Amino acid sequence: AGQLAARQHGTLTTCPYCGVGCGVRATVGGDGQVDIAGDESHASNAGRLCVKGSALGETVDLEGRLLHPQMLVENDGRQSMQRVSWDAALDKVAHGFRSIVEQHGPDAVALYVSGQLLTEDYYIANKLMKGYIGSANIDTNSRLCMSSAVAGHKRAFGADLVPVCYEDLELADLVVLVGSNTAWCHPILFQRIARIKETRPQMKLVVIDPRRTATCELADLHLPLKAGSDVWLFNGLLSFLARHDAADAGFVEAHTNGLAAALEAAEADCADLAAVAKSCKLDPQDLLTFYEWFAANEKVVTAFSQGVNQSSSGTDKVNSIINCHLLTGRIGKEGMGPFSITGQPNAMGGREVGGLANMLAAHMELDNPRHRQTVQDFWQAPRMAERPGLKAVDLFQAIEAGRVKAVWIIATNPVVSLPDADQVQRALAKCELVVVSDIIEKTDTNAFAHVLLPAMGWGEKDGTVTSSERRISRQRAFLPAPGEARADWQILCQVAQRMGYAGFDFSAAHQVFDEHARLSAFRNGDAFGLRRMFNLAGLSGLGQAAFDALQPVQWPIVTTASGEKQGTARLFADGRFAHADGKARFVATVPRAPRHATDSEYPLSLNTGRVRDQWHTMTRTGKSPKLADHVPESFVDMHPQDALLYGVREGMLARVASRWGSMVARVQHGGGIARGSIFVPIHWNGQSASDARVGALVNPVVDPVSGEPEFKHTPVLVEEFRVA
Ligand code: SF4
Repeated sequence: AGQLAARQHGTLTTCPYCGVGCGVRATVGGDGQVDIAGDESHASNAGRLCVKGSALGETVDLEGRLLHPQMLVENDGRQSMQRVSWDAALDKVAHGFRSIVEQHGPDAVALYVSGQLLTEDYYIANKLMKGYIGSANIDTNSRLCMSSAVAGHKRAFGADLVPVCYEDLELADLVVLVGSNTAWCHPILFQRIARIKETRPQMKLVVIDPRRTATCELADLHLPLKAGSDVWLFNGLLSFLARHDAADAGFVEAHTNGLAAALEAAEADCADLAAVAKSCKLDPQDLLTFYEWFAANEKVVTAFSQGVNQSSSGTDKVNSIINCHLLTGRIGKEGMGPFSITGQPNAMGGREVGGLANMLAAHMELDNPRHRQTVQDFWQAPRMAERPGLKAVDLFQAIEAGRVKAVWIIATNPVVSLPDADQVQRALAKCELVVVSDIIEKTDTNAFAHVLLPAMGWGEKDGTVTSSERRISRQRAFLPAPGEARADWQILCQVAQRMGYAGFDFSAAHQVFDEHARLSAFRNGDAFGLRRMFNLAGLSGLGQAAFDALQPVQWPIVTTASGEKQGTARLFADGRFAHADGKARFVATVPRAPRHATDSEYPLSLNTGRVRDQWHTMTRTGKSPKLADHVPESFVDMHPQDALLYGVREGMLARVASRWGSMVARVQHGGGIARGSIFVPIHWNGQSASDARVGALVNPVVDPVSGEPEFKHTPVLVEEFRVA
């Protein structure tokens, strides 16, 4: 029926790329061609799509798809991947995991999953590992993009709660974008800001970014701060606001704790504006202008992304931003608040189900015994994980060290995307059992698999995703599953059942969603008000038809006086937070430089990020000729004077090397790079003629609180590439 509807009227679904979560209408033509249009009824995008979303129809063909299960088989002393039955593949995975758990304990196995997964997939993966296998060794590539925001929210608000919504960006008088090339990475949000600026030119936009990106074209003020100096800047702002009578004393008194310590820490280094400007390498007058605008405008949204999160002090950076909003009481009201914009389509849905190694489902905590008991009771789980598991970087180091002997990688390509990516290769080469579920047959990671499991892709699978503003939307199937591909939640359930576990007899995605929604209301006596702040109970009990008809809605779901279920645009409107006393916390943040300094051997600072028209490791966007036109190959963007200094010219191939690895890319100028730093995109992989995995260069340094890697700074050298 779904496929028939897709041919006649199109299917309403959600874009699988960034965390904006745009609604898409996909229509399958008579020739099988998929036409893509924006969903005019979807609140995120009101019919608009960016170039990546518009090209989705070019990415759904079967070229390169993994269509059948495969296993590494030995014949005449030679090993090769061969097609096998689902039964054989599932038995191999279940038996392999079970025997390693029996011999070495539950922490000897791991899952590494992805913000590309649907919430239902994420839920089952976490239930299997944390409630049945009994280990929390399940982490996600979302660790790489927003875990510092999660940790910052938890410290400030008592739970990982995003207070604002997209509309707040349009209602604000001052929008501050920190570490976010919104124009390229969240294009529809940027278009929404641009439209408001056209109609309300007095609305001000400040962009804080070491690079002069496309986002700066709209900015009233660009602050090209020194990479990593954000805490200096926001501690300076906190101090400035306190000294210039911009604090909301009533809000601070009634709704927060910890101001004195935060202010003392801020004033220690950042009370003097000239000193802050020097630490951030900014023009003091520009810095003063920003501080004055922030003080003068009541409606301020400070939106931040990977430039803040991907740092060895990412969590402190997040809290230094939140501190300024708490001091001024600018939170929980229209047009104001700190706003973490997530990179992936379902990073937020993953957080709902405890998709990080230190979390439990329904925003409960692994290190809280009452939370563990609550989830165990609900699941009737035989063996709950008792402590947080290994975070992404630590996980692959534990594999190389032999402590983790089996890993199941789902919908992600860590051999390209993790820092110190050559170490990931070494780890997988040593690992006893590597299982990979993917839609693509040949990726850098799949090359290490002992078992390959074909997964359904976008347009084929059914379930939900949650955007950066907490809006749950349906991803709906409109294409048949190709070959023998199955849904990820289904594959996970089938392995769980073969391992002998009850509790996995789901036959449709809506049943999984229902269990997830019921768990959100099951908590009893946990942190203050958390049930009120994250609650999907209004969405429980949906049958197939109601699940199919589910309209985009922002959690928490509340029941109105007339019995109607409705979503919630903003959190903390009543000034109550999720800490036990109902108050938010200021966090004392101390500025720290990136962990590894540049030196005479590695004199340049490597910054990594996205380009406008590609997504992650290009396994899907790489198929679209239209998208390839924008940037056809990887590059190293550097300042012309640095190029001169290091003996390279625009257009020539250069070798870029760090203490962890090297790659080759073509030199270019014009990306708004400051002297002393370079920029290389994250997308290119090792499948091309030259290995262009920038992950191989990135230092495996992580934030001590969140475990998020420092992708925005690695000391490197650049030199002319010579063929050996
Ligand atoms: Fe997709 Fe993000 Fe573009 Fe929207 S802005 S169409 S969600 S990639």
